[in-house]
Amino acid sequence: MPKSPITITDEIGIALGNLADAATSPLTPTLRLGVTGLSRAGKTIFITALVHNLLNGTRLPGFAPLTEGRLIGVRLDEHEDHAVPRFAYEQHLGSLTGPEPAWPESTRRISQLRLTLKYQSRNWIGGLVGPSQMHLDIVDYPGEWLLDLPLLNLSYAQWSREALERAERVKDAEARPFFEAMSAIDATAEATEPAAEALATAFAAYLRESRKDGRALSTLPPGRFLMPGDLEGSPALTFAPLPPLPGHTDRRSLHAMLERRYEAYRRLVVRPFFRDHFARLDRQIVLVDTLRALNVGPDAVADLESAITAVMACFRQGSGNPVSRLLSRRIDRILFAATKADHLHHTSHDRLQAILERMVARAARRSRYHGARTASMAIAAIRATREGTIEDKGEKLPCIVGTPQAGEHLGNITYDGKTEIALFPGDLPGDPESVFQEGSVPVPLHFLRFNPPGGLSRSGDGAVVLPHIRLDRALDFLIGDWLK
Ligand code: GDP
Repeated sequence: MPKSPITITDEIGIALGNLADAATSPLTPTLRLGVTGLSRAGKTIFITALVHNLLNGTRLPGFAPLTEGRLIGVRLDEHEDHAVPRFAYEQHLGSLTGPEPAWPESTRRISQLRLTLKYQSRNWIGGLVGPSQMHLDIVDYPGEWLLDLPLLNLSYAQWSREALERAERVKDAEARPFFEAMSAIDATAEATEPAAEALATAFAAYLRESRKDGRALSTLPPGRFLMPGDLEGSPALTFAPLPPLPGHTDRRSLHAMLERRYEAYRRLVVRPFFRDHFARLDRQIVLVDTLRALNVGPDAVADLESAITAVMACFRQGSGNPVSRLLSRRIDRILFAATKADHLHHTSHDRLQAILERMVARAARRSRYHGARTASMAIAAIRATREGTIEDKGEKLPCIVGTPQAGEHLGNITYDGKTEIALFPGDLPGDPESVFQEGSVPVPLHFLRFNPPGGLSRSGDGAVVLPHIRLDRALDFLIGDWLK
């Protein structure tokens, strides 16, 4: 058995981090909101839209503190923690609202941003002392990194066994180059950097290949192989799984070197992320590109479900684990959101939400058991389509209207990025269970990527209005109770 992955130093680190949060602004409480999801789930767009709408007080009727007239103002603030990059809000908003609106660059590493919210509390003390303030720290990080958390409990031998078993199960073509690279090396021979690199490169290529087009296996760690952040090319990422070598003790061998690198990855990458960022969150939103998985097929749906369940299982890695106890105490609300709901007519949103609820059911049950409140919603942080109806053989069909991105195609039509179309996106099944059944066929959706909305209107004080779906309700669930 590997020894407990969480050390007393970690515990002290987390406790000090939390104390530091409290000490930097003793009178202003800070709510740390984690925004995560696998690559392209919609994190960047969600944060940009959320910040913009909060700063300008636009289009948030479901956010109670605003509709009750108690939110006095919101401003962007500098964060004291200069080690974490600032979320590039202005740049992202610039791309979305410029003369030629374009989707901004997606999340590739951790970043954060601080807002200060000034509000009038509803309770009687608030009435006496005047307005209150709180900081909202929004922390954006790739969901792929969360997939590494289970590694904290796996030795190199255990991880290698799991990783090799999985590689053997997947389609030949994807894993073959990696197995070829593995059979070309002698793991007992003296380690060389090129040999380690060749194997790690082949392993990373196989992981990437498995993820192509969202086909399957989003659960494969190490997450940084897929989303390296600032660690691109670092030795901590130069390892790969190898079959066990019982009785082998030569520290100079390639096997021993890869094992050391794996340990370094856990020590220098996984554990600090867990301790410095994840363990200090109060609230979490998990963005899920449910529609894309549905469109790809039941394997991708099942895979997404196991990715979410595996990640959420990190909230309790056994009752004897002090960090998991601390975690489950701290994150007390989790929102699962199916993103890009504007790809469907609103009449299908309930079904999308039901499918998401079924997808996250195991994860949500576990979180609730540990005292966190959970909810699921279908949202679009930025609405790129509007709704209409089309007639097909005398039947009126609810449709969406938007401009597909250049290069998108449907049947034999390829779009030029300038032509607006009306599209019947297809129906989601009424029974959410049906998409999880083995052997079920992909849901026949017409899923096109649309340009961001153009010709945006402006609010009374000149701010661009970004249309959305249920972003306000998501916000209310995530932070509304702190502004009571
Ligand atoms: P992430 O940062 O990797 O999680 O992903 P992004 O936020 O960059 O989103 C990836 C892509 O999904 C964007 O470039 C958009 O094309 C699309 N997208 C994200 N959110 C929405 C949305 O609310 N509506 C629509 N129509 N597309 C979206």
